Amino acid sequence: MRIAVFSTKAYDRRFLDAANRAFGHQIDYFEARLDASTTALAEGYPAVCVFVNDRVDAAVLETLAKGGTKLVALRCAGYNNVDLEAAERLGVAVVRVPAYSPEAVAEFTVGLMLALDRNIPRAWARVRDNNFALDGLIGRNLSGRTVGVVGTGRIGALVARSLRLGFGCQVLAHDLVEDPELTAIGVRYAPVDTLLREVDLITLHCPLTPQTHHLIDNDRLAAARPGVMIVNTSRGALIDTAALIEGLKSGKVGSVALDVYEQEADLFFEDLSNQIVQDDVFQRLLTFPNVLITGHQAFLTEEALSAIAEITLTSLADAEAGRPLTCQVTMRQVRGDPRQA
Ligand code: NAD
Repeated sequence: MRIAVFSTKAYDRRFLDAANRAFGHQIDYFEARLDASTTALAEGYPAVCVFVNDRVDAAVLETLAKGGTKLVALRCAGYNNVDLEAAERLGVAVVRVPAYSPEAVAEFTVGLMLALDRNIPRAWARVRDNNFALDGLIGRNLSGRTVGVVGTGRIGALVARSLRLGFGCQVLAHDLVEDPELTAIGVRYAPVDTLLREVDLITLHCPLTPQTHHLIDNDRLAAARPGVMIVNTSRGALIDTAALIEGLKSGKVGSVALDVYEQEADLFFEDLSNQIVQDDVFQRLLTFPNVLITGHQAFLTEEALSAIAEITLTSLADAEAGRPLTCQVTMRQVRGDPRQA
């Protein structure tokens, strides 16, 4: 099948080319992000492959459909950037990679917690400057702390398990569906507002949906415990960034680790080191000594990239052969299954 791959980085090409030896698809790579201004590049391609910050809205889908595209393949799990209703109306199938390596994201999340809490990036910066003073680097044990996990799907469950069994944390969880394997190891489920009142650390692992947009806002932060640590490796818009900044300024929020950011589409995945970044909110976030930010890299392991390439190319082969698309995401599924909402 002929595929137009958008938002291509060197690592995408490396892993897709390696996996494609077993498939023989004709892959054309574009560095550009897919949006209304770049859709023309996809003209005549039966399939396009996109990532988290490509904009697959109704207008883009209409142009794609007119140009003969029948399949949009997301090389990620989240599909908040695709207008599924428009896709269905236009007869464009959408596939994603529901689970490639939840371990990659879960391990990175715990890594962020430890790095932030124990001031590892700040300590490393000091040591490189031959400054071996320890003042200002006091951390806290994870062990014994009460942690809140919002969203206990594939990634959240691994984080909860690791914090509970590996570090001996008390874990409070919130999800639309309870996971009995987590309750069996002592994880307790609670409504999100109860959870916020009781935890020292909250980590977000639910998808971005209309219901979870700005899940962490001014009101929720007001109800949280003073000094709460917030970790987000899911999607940026789960947090109202303006409210977060106010929380940091007042001291209500003790520390923050983010791998995702509300307006990341204008920043992440690019080298902007020689440019003047225009996003004042992001620049303000960078000024806090108790904020740690990475550029949406929690997924970035060899294992995850191999799995993403393999699963994506399998979906394309299935589509070409007229086989059922096991990784298809449809409105019916989304409406019928709250886990996918
Ligand atoms: P998943 O579908 O397995 O789990 C999501 C969980 O969230 C489900 O248990 C679902 O019931 C729950 N949920 C849905 N709506 C909710 C709500 N309103 N309140 C509470 N819980 C709710 O997904 P996953 O594979 O664990 O991935 C979680 C998220 O992580 C994805 O949606 C994606 O946005 C993000 N992600 C980020 C990276 C990264 O590199 N930073 C990589 C992969 C995934």
